[in-house]
Formats: sequence, structure tokens, C-alpha cells
Amino acid sequence: MDREELAPHVDELTRVLGDKADKNKIAEELEKYVNLYRVSLEWAKRDILKKMGGNPDSVGDGSGRKSVADLTGDEQSVDLLVKVLTVNPKTIEVGGAHKSIVYGYMADESGRVQYTVWETESVQLKQGSTILIRNAYTKEYKGVPQLNLGNRASVEESEEILDVADMPSGGGSAEVKVADLADGMNYVVISGKVSKPEKREITASGEKKTIVTGVLSDDTGSAELTVWKDAELKDGDEVRIVGAYVKSWKGMPKLNLGDKADIQVLAKGTLGDMTSSVPKVRTLEDVELSGGAMDVVVRGTMVDVREGSGLVMRCPDCRRVLQKSTCRVHGKVKGTDDLRIKAILDDGTSSMSVIFGKELTEQLLNISIEEAVKITTDERNPEAVKEMAEEKMFARTLEVRGMVRSDDFGPMLIARDARFLEIDVREEGAKLLADMEGFQ
Ligand SMILES: [Zn+2]
Repeated sequence: MDREELAPHVDELTRVLGDKADKNKIAEELEKYVNLYRVSLEWAKRDILKKMGGNPDSVGDGSGRKSVADLTGDEQSVDLLVKVLTVNPKTIEVGGAHKSIVYGYMADESGRVQYTVWETESVQLKQGSTILIRNAYTKEYKGVPQLNLGNRASVEESEEILDVADMPSGGGSAEVKVADLADGMNYVVISGKVSKPEKREITASGEKKTIVTGVLSDDTGSAELTVWKDAELKDGDEVRIVGAYVKSWKGMPKLNLGDKADIQVLAKGTLGDMTSSVPKVRTLEDVELSGGAMDVVVRGTMVDVREGSGLVMRCPDCRRVLQKSTCRVHGKVKGTDDLRIKAILDDGTSSMSVIFGKELTEQLLNISIEEAVKITTDERNPEAVKEMAEEKMFARTLEVRGMVRSDDFGPMLIARDARFLEIDVREEGAKLLADMEGFQ
């Protein structure tokens, strides 16, 4: 075997041995074993590892290559020749620190498997490529084997190209929920209910084209939808989409259906009753990681009422908030009254800015805007309403529904619905403790 053929194996040994040996030394050894001693490559690798202080079991044994269908879920070290179907980056929290991982699907002729890459620096995957994976391991999740590429795994692009369909159409396990959507995702399979479908005429590369826009909702939220071709969609249609991609705008993930994507209208009721559904409560961290959301429900404690909250005057022309009766654009104007609360909500996983407009401020403070003006005038205190908000809302737990957009200052929740929750996390904890003591 020449140097070039041995190179990936040298790389593999170098990776396994880490600081224990240098690469040139390993290359020299391996060449000697294979070309001089004429031992098998696998035996050579194991022996070199033993000699240099590594674990011989950490390299593939040559016969370790398996088909996807043969995976059991308890492989310690397995090699596979697979095609990379989808590549989804994701950030997760491990021990208080953020870590980048990549997950998706891989397949060979025998089937498809979900994978996770835990070391994104050393293993980079390209969608559609055929790769030879060495030293992956598997775990079972809900009875299905899942493939993991940890720090021992190596990947090389294969010259052998696997001809498997881009995404097998069967099997619902590939489906994601609206809350899982993140910028850059490809080949998304998702089901939901369509609302506000609308046909639009656009001109693309000089040609007139009909596209369809709308909103797709499931039990975790809603996302804007653009079908880049003509499609017959009605309000309330339940659909299954295969092969969409995600692009975000101001952090809000939007679903796009290109030429290759498919949209199937399902029989009414297939997805269960979703008509009155309020999205499931998500953590602030989860929302923050997806960058934004069109419709989200979160719960948290109000930890700050920010400057600019309370009664404000707006320019009648441009709605900008006036400073000393002066608009930045229109000069001195007779302003109109408005109410708002800018606050910080914290749920223990993260914190986020929230804005409550006039109606919600009236509702939360149980005060009308006329009363707010009167209090402010009577007390001669422009901060009167802000102080009231602090008194009524600080440290209270709220459930807020709205839209989350991101800009340079990070994500912001624009509330359209909010209510105080009577549950108090600390009280709940005390109650639990009391129950436990009673039990003893
Ligand atoms: Zn103005």
C-alpha cells in the first residue's frame, strides 16, 4: 500500500492517540507493518495502538462495516458506508456551555438512520455526499437505533457513490415540528394546517410565475410558508410537506417549497383537532436558539420593567415616541397618548425582552389609558404608570403569547396575549417539600 492509501488510517491513528505520538512516527510505523511485515492493515493498526498507549478497540476492525438495517443500537464501534441526506446544525447546552452539534439522516440501500455529530470541528458533512464512517457508535432511542459520531469517529468521502433516494418517502420519524425549524435546514418533512393561503404573481428571471404564500401551524407554533410554484391550497387544509427548506427573516424561520418539494393535502381530520390549539409552552432558551418564532407561548417571571415603559406620547404622523413633545422627524407636534410596558422575562433557561402594547398594558395593570393620563397629571409624575407596572408585575409569573423577532439587540417577544399565572415556582417548591415531610 502506498502513502496515499495509508493516509486516512494514519489520520485515524493520530486522532485516537492524540498527544501520545506524532503523525510522522505513526506513518512510518504503519508503513513498516503493512509493507515490510506484510500484516493486515487492521492488525497493524491495533498493534500500533497497543504499542503507543492507545486503545486497540478504538479502530474499526475491517469486518465492522454494517448496513443501516443491521444496526442494533448497542454498537460500540461501527463502520458504515452511507449517503448524507440531511445536515442540520443545532446549538445545545451542555453543563452550562453552548455546544454546536449537527444532526440529520443518513441512508444506505437497506434503510435510513438518524445521526448526531458531536465533534463538528473534526467531522464536517456535506449533504448528498457518500461517506465512509469509521468508529461511530449507536444508541437506542424509543426502540430505534441512532448513530453517533463522537470524538473517535472519522469520516472520509467515498469514491463509491450510493444511489439512494434523497429522502425515502416512507416513515414518519423524519418529521419535524414547527418549533424545531431553524435557519438553514434542508429537506424538511413537516405536517400541519394551512391558513391564509394566497396566490401571488411574481416575475422571476423575466418570467411571470404564480406562487402561493400562507401560514403553516401545528401544535408547537406557526411559520410562514412560501410555495415557489402554483398550488391549490385552501384555508384549513391539512398537509404533509416533504423536502422544504428553511430561511429565516429577523430570526423567524420561514418554510420554502422549491421545485423538488412536495405538498400533499391530507384527508380532513388526519392531524387531529388543531382548530383552537394554542401552541405548547416553549422555554425561552429553545425560542432563542431557533432565532425567533411567528407564534409562541412562553412562561416566565418578570424580572425588570425597563425605561420607556408607561405612558408615552407618540407623533401623530409617524408613531415615533416623542421626547419633550418633539418628534425626531416632524419636530414639535401635538402627540397622542399611548401605553406600553417593556420588560424582561426570565424562565430559568434564559431571559428575553418583552413588549406589551396598549391593550395588554391596560389589561395587565387593570387601568384604562384615560385613567393613566389622569394619574400622571394628578401626581405630576411622568413615571407614575411605570411605577405602577413595577409594583404590579415585578416578580410575578406570566404566560405570554406572541411573536419573537431578532435584531442586533437579540430576540424580542412582541406580546399579543398575556396573563398572570397564579402558580408561584417557589410556593410550588415549598408545597412539594411539605408533602414530602408529611409523607415521612
Ligand atoms: Zn413624527
